[in-house]
Amino acid sequence: MKCRVCRGPAVIDIRRHNANFCAEHFLRLCRDQVEKAVSRFAMLQRGDRVLVAVSGGKDSLALWDLLTEMGYEVDGLYLGLGIGDYSDSSGTYVRAFAEARGLHLIEVDLRADEGFDVPTAAAATRRVPCSACGLSKRHLFDRAALEGGYDALATGHNLDDEAAVLLGNVVKWQTDYLGRQRPVLPAGDGFPRKIKPLVRLTEREMAAYCVLRGIDYQVEECPMAAGNRHLGHKETLNDMEVRSPGAKHDLYFGFLDRAVDRFGSATDDEDPVALAPCAECGAPTTGDTCAFCRLAGQARAAEPVTLRPRRRSR
Ligand code: SF4
Ligand SMILES: [Zn+2]
Ligand SMILES: [Zn+2]
Repeated sequence: MKCRVCRGPAVIDIRRHNANFCAEHFLRLCRDQVEKAVSRFAMLQRGDRVLVAVSGGKDSLALWDLLTEMGYEVDGLYLGLGIGDYSDSSGTYVRAFAEARGLHLIEVDLRADEGFDVPTAAAATRRVPCSACGLSKRHLFDRAALEGGYDALATGHNLDDEAAVLLGNVVKWQTDYLGRQRPVLPAGDGFPRKIKPLVRLTEREMAAYCVLRGIDYQVEECPMAAGNRHLGHKETLNDMEVRSPGAKHDLYFGFLDRAVDRFGSATDDEDPVALAPCAECGAPTTGDTCAFCRLAGQARAAEPVTLRPRRRSR
């Protein structure tokens, strides 16, 4: 197996590019793919200050590394979700990464700073954990990006994530979500600009990137992920990819090229919904109190949920 660029020994094959790469040229490919995404979708300009939401997993740590290497000023934001020892060890990976590189990390802890955690919020509101978690993350990420005056909030969503969410939205024809499923959402109405620079790279490529760059990351699955329907869609797409390399890329980028505009603009300004500040936190909302403050209120009033110790996977 030889590298397509230098003919040296290859370390990875990428079937959708029909090519193999050595370590050096694979790392270059990753940077090129991020640069391509950033420029094609006008995600960033030189000199922008970026806040990357880091979970301790491979994608967000790789993204922090890639954007920093590309010369952007990038700080990290870690949100402690209070999901037992999974959250404890995730935080350890993030802190070690930031410390080793002298990067600035902002930490928010749901239990210490907001008075609840994800397991308790899920039980108190009878939501599936990923729904309570996603709502909290969106709210607190937006708040940190705005308070810190960052030009953009970057998340580590990769091609597998975006293709799986797209498949789910198409299966249910959630047209309002489809109109907003873009790699960039502009700032406005009290929200920061949101960008997904990893949309041209897959999960497997991000894992390889971390190994080759010596980045230690959380490999355990979140214990609350059961019931997350995106995981099933990812498996479906992985099967398709085996039979038809490039299927995920074609699905997602074909959608962006040919269909997304039919479902509405990124800002929804063709059908504006009146937003007013939340009575409790000031965040933009359609009601009196935003969904996060309602969830937090219920969760703070509930008995804290203790997660059972995780069984070690063999
Ligand atoms: S799997 Fe669900 S609960 Fe766990 S971190 Fe992700 S969104 Fe949160
Ligand atoms: Zn090479
Ligand atoms: Zn609020």
